[in-house]
Amino acid sequence: MYVGDRPINDSEKAAFFQAQRKALRAMWRAGRDELDVSPASVIPDLGDWGLTVDFLIGAYEIAKDLDSFSCVDWYTAAGGSDFYCRQGIGTLFQHSARDVAVQTDVTAEKIRWGGQGVTVETSEGTITAKAVVVTVSTGVLASGDIEFDPPLPVKKQEAIQELPMGHYFHVGLQMSKNIFGTGADAYFNYKVDEEVDGSPKAFGALTNAGGTDLCYFDMGGDFAKHLLEAGNNAAYDFVVSELKRMFGNHIEKYIVESNSYDWLHDPYTYGSYAAAKPGGFWARDEMRENIADRIWFAGEAMSDDDWSTIAGAHKSGLIVAEEISEVL
Ligand SMILES: Cc1cc2nc3c(=O)[nH]c(=O)nc-3n(C[C@H](O)[C@H](O)[C@H](O)COP(=O)(O)OP(=O)(O)OC[C@H]3O[C@@H](n4cnc5c(N)ncnc54)[C@H](O)[C@@H]3O)c2cc1C
Repeated sequence: MYVGDRPINDSEKAAFFQAQRKALRAMWRAGRDELDVSPASVIPDLGDWGLTVDFLIGAYEIAKDLDSFSCVDWYTAAGGSDFYCRQGIGTLFQHSARDVAVQTDVTAEKIRWGGQGVTVETSEGTITAKAVVVTVSTGVLASGDIEFDPPLPVKKQEAIQELPMGHYFHVGLQMSKNIFGTGADAYFNYKVDEEVDGSPKAFGALTNAGGTDLCYFDMGGDFAKHLLEAGNNAAYDFVVSELKRMFGNHIEKYIVESNSYDWLHDPYTYGSYAAAKPGGFWARDEMRENIADRIWFAGEAMSDDDWSTIAGAHKSGLIVAEEISEVL
């Protein structure tokens, strides 16, 4: 953790941890008491460390700022550890699903469920089946890019609106030198002093992924959205200017390569992952209910305790597969 251009000192560290504890305690109490309200409405004034804690709990973790997700939703998340796959998560998926017939580059355009079974019109033709599992993001569901005929029941449509996508993305930098002085897979954060329209203006970083000097810098919440909308390398410029402020102008020469991805404007995601709005916790249960024993929804947003994660998406799919095999 840095403050300005130096590591945090002991008294600052104590103040930071105290502020973080205060915030987490307030959210934890609200969640335990099933208060479906925003963290912003229950967290007391955290003074000097307020924006830093906001960033770490909200934008960096949930991909949303503290006024736009629900304490009770947050409370139900199991939490866990991150693990890294040197070959990339896609490689892991391809390996684990190697016995499953998967056809990529096929877009589902319309799902008809008015008669017997289900008919899915795709870019490569029509598929008929007894049932369908829809695993697209709530961003895609909300966009209307997949037409349902007849339309989804109103309650389901309302539930989709209560689980909007958050915003989160990485700027990856391959460095030629470990400017952070950290070991492999070490997190780097800093005290946040600025905001843009209430959203902390900051990144959080993973440094030296696997000891390779590959680092990634994550932006979240409305500030991430703002950067993605600004386009033109706005995110890269922001990250590099912050690094220069903390480590000096010379650091730019250690950047070998950069990469970034815009999940907001990708029509197959429309955001990073979902979280319930304040007052919208009910929507998760609603989305887990199938429609007429024919349409099921699965994916991270439908997970009961691991939403926002790959583990949650995977488990949700397994649960739905079991349900369908029982029903059919
Ligand atoms: C920057 C970032 C970092 C993250 N870091 C982590 C992490 O460290 N750990 C972790 O566990 N999770 C992480 N996540 C979250 C994780 O990626 C998601 O929770 C997970 O991908 C959700 O899986 P899913 O199957 O529910 O949805 P998706 O991964 O969105 O899969 C849905 C699929 O449907 C496809 N699709 C969309 N529309 C159509 C259509 N019309 N026809 C056909 N196919 C369609 C999409 O192309 C996509 O392949 C991160 C997310 C982001 C954006």
